[in-house]
Amino acid sequence: MLELRNIRKTYHVGDTETRALDDMSVAFRERDFVAILGKSGSGKTTFLNIIGGLDRYDSGELIIKGKKTSDFKEDDWDAYRNSAIGFVFQSYNLISHLSIVANVELGMTLSGVPAEERQKRALQVLDQVDLTDHLNKRPNQLSGGQMQRVAIARALVNNPEILLCDEPTGALDTVTSMQIMDLIKELAKNRLVIVVTHNPEIAEKYALRVIRFQDGKIISDTHPHEERPKPDSFSLKKTSMSFLTALKLSFNNLRTKKGRTALTVIASSIGIIGIAVILSLSTGFKTQIDHFQGNTMAEFPIIMTQSSAEIDAANVATMQNLMKEKLLGTTTADANSDEVYLSDPAKTTIVHTNVFTDAYMNYVNKIDPTICSNVGYTRIVGMNMLRDVNGTVTPVSLNSVLASMSSGQGATAASTMTSMANVTSMSSIGLSSYPKELKESDGSYLSKNYDLLAGVYPQSATDLVLVVDSKNTIDLNALKDLGFKTEGLTSIKFTDIVGTEFKIICNDDYYVQTKFGSYLPNNDYHAMYASDKGITVKIVGIVRQKQDVKVGILGSGIAYSDELSQMVVDSDASSAIVKAQKASSNNVITMQPMDKETKASFLSYLGGDATPFMVMVYPRNFADKTAVISYLDAYNNGKAIKDQVVYTDLAGTVTKLTGGIMDAITSVLIAFAAISLIVSLIMISIITYTSVLERTKEIGVLRSLGARKKDITRVFDAETFILGVSSGALGIAIAWLLTIPINAILLHLTGLSGVANLQILQAVLLIAISTVLTVLGGHIPALMASKMDPVEALRTE
Ligand code: ADP
Ligand code: MG
Repeated sequence: MLELRNIRKTYHVGDTETRALDDMSVAFRERDFVAILGKSGSGKTTFLNIIGGLDRYDSGELIIKGKKTSDFKEDDWDAYRNSAIGFVFQSYNLISHLSIVANVELGMTLSGVPAEERQKRALQVLDQVDLTDHLNKRPNQLSGGQMQRVAIARALVNNPEILLCDEPTGALDTVTSMQIMDLIKELAKNRLVIVVTHNPEIAEKYALRVIRFQDGKIISDTHPHEERPKPDSFSLKKTSMSFLTALKLSFNNLRTKKGRTALTVIASSIGIIGIAVILSLSTGFKTQIDHFQGNTMAEFPIIMTQSSAEIDAANVATMQNLMKEKLLGTTTADANSDEVYLSDPAKTTIVHTNVFTDAYMNYVNKIDPTICSNVGYTRIVGMNMLRDVNGTVTPVSLNSVLASMSSGQGATAASTMTSMANVTSMSSIGLSSYPKELKESDGSYLSKNYDLLAGVYPQSATDLVLVVDSKNTIDLNALKDLGFKTEGLTSIKFTDIVGTEFKIICNDDYYVQTKFGSYLPNNDYHAMYASDKGITVKIVGIVRQKQDVKVGILGSGIAYSDELSQMVVDSDASSAIVKAQKASSNNVITMQPMDKETKASFLSYLGGDATPFMVMVYPRNFADKTAVISYLDAYNNGKAIKDQVVYTDLAGTVTKLTGGIMDAITSVLIAFAAISLIVSLIMISIITYTSVLERTKEIGVLRSLGARKKDITRVFDAETFILGVSSGALGIAIAWLLTIPINAILLHLTGLSGVANLQILQAVLLIAISTVLTVLGGHIPALMASKMDPVEALRTE
């Protein structure tokens, strides 16, 4: 069944050449008990290794069951070793970290026998070699004879056609040797057994055929066999180790060196701890910022005023860099010269005046309602209001801002508005006209952001609401200006306010021309009140900013719709005073000369100009703000600077600053943590390499049992996989524990709770990264292990 034809094998070590097998030709029967007898160094082990497929020959032909092995591929040899050959070594070569049963099962796991079947067969062969009492012991808990019987059981378990034993009794005493030889003889009844020995007594006593070796040649043979040519009747079953088997092997191996494994895992988890803590902090801060932005700044409008100083991007960028330098400690070099450099502020800052053309107003009005919820306008139109209090008609005014305008100083009002547009704090802007929703279905701005304390929300353009602050207070002057009696009072009932009516008097009724040509407010309030040209308005409700709304844009006092301002402008645009003012360069009330800008403001105040002073666009949410901004930018695109409309995006400036700094800090810290990750990667490589050296013999055994090179790589990959997963998981666990004191400290320092917050996704990702990196780090030593020559590997001690 087995035939060697002119097999030659030469070893080269340096310049010396050893011919281990010298044109060896011999054939074996299908069932036989053959002893190979020879002095040490006569080539016996080489002979067995070549038959067993562990070693390759230089020339000649090995034929098994009519199949020539010269065209075997690597895989075929692996399968051959696994299924056709059983190896028993002089030094047992058991894997010390596996139990007896596991050692015996090893060859079967390589050929993919199911667990149950494996267990059954292992117990069966262990019973055959009389070891049933020692199943769960480890190899080093057995005697030499017992260990050799385990090795025999392992060689038998795949029921090989050829059993090769290399000096199986070499390390055993005479009595045990005889027991082992009896056992082997028993096995030879239904297979070919080749036993190598240098003991002639044993050979003669047990073997049916004795072949003597000398210097790689056969010098005698008691029962030579002539192999007749046979058809190829040999088939191979391919082997492969599952990753699970590899994991189990490596897990057991790691278990035998708990201390070192623990230290490795702890050391390589440090990088992961660092990154996890940094990530949890930075995402925590980002979440806090986003939350703040989402809640607070989304409601914050993008503001355009008719007079606006440009906040140019260059300034913001410089400021950002400055803060980064402060925080990260990097400074740009100071200028090194003996000259003073001159800079022209006029060249670096551009003061820009927005002009709201009809085209621009149309453009803003056509903004997509899906990205923008409201558009608000503020006009400097003054409202000439009267109120009938118990039959006495008195002039009243809506609030302090407008009160200052009624004194005829439109320009002051305009500058007040400008400073409002440039507010640097996030507090209320203090407008008196509430923005209009673009989609009916959205519900009104007031009902979304303000709680109704009394009455109803405004239904029509002429409905007014009174806005109070969070403690229901309001400046008493505001109510006094509205004609309420405030002296000696600390509070006024809601019911006394809701339902109050006023009349807005048109310019032509309100102003009369004096004989000098100037205009003065009329004194005959009753007559004006009675005029049917007035607009009756009514306080229909009292509202207060909702608790969760951070930025209220309405100041306390009366708030009205923009339609009301438009109604007033419509009725006053063609009034006599407006016409007169348009024609004159002096103020038609005070007769003082005015510059162009003051005149424009004053005309607006008189209702002569429908263009709003300020436009506010409210993005639907924080994400839509980008879309809103690009819509506004699109208008400016390609226009000359003077025709562009510049907007102020306070929320954006704040976001840019905080976001940029957070990103910078995070990336620096992550870079540091990444270095420790790389260090642990190198460490894992070294440890895997040591492990490869330590497990060399195991590699040889696995190869002799039919493990492929791939399977060997897999065993070490599995080991680093276990190390990677555990160090990742440990790192995450420690980082998670660390967030508790970190949060306590942050709460103490900043008042923010739960900032450090490790996301599950991040945790999983970090464990995955740790695993991939460690497996990568260990993969090169693992490849080295797989390339190891099995014969060499078995020879190492
Ligand atoms: P035996 O098993 O009969 O003692 P071996 O087959 O181990 O002999 O060795 C046969 C000859 O080949 C010896 O001279 C030995 O030195 C040489 N040899 C065996 N293996 C190697 C090897 N890996 N490298 C170099 N020489 C070897
Ligand atoms: Mg030998």
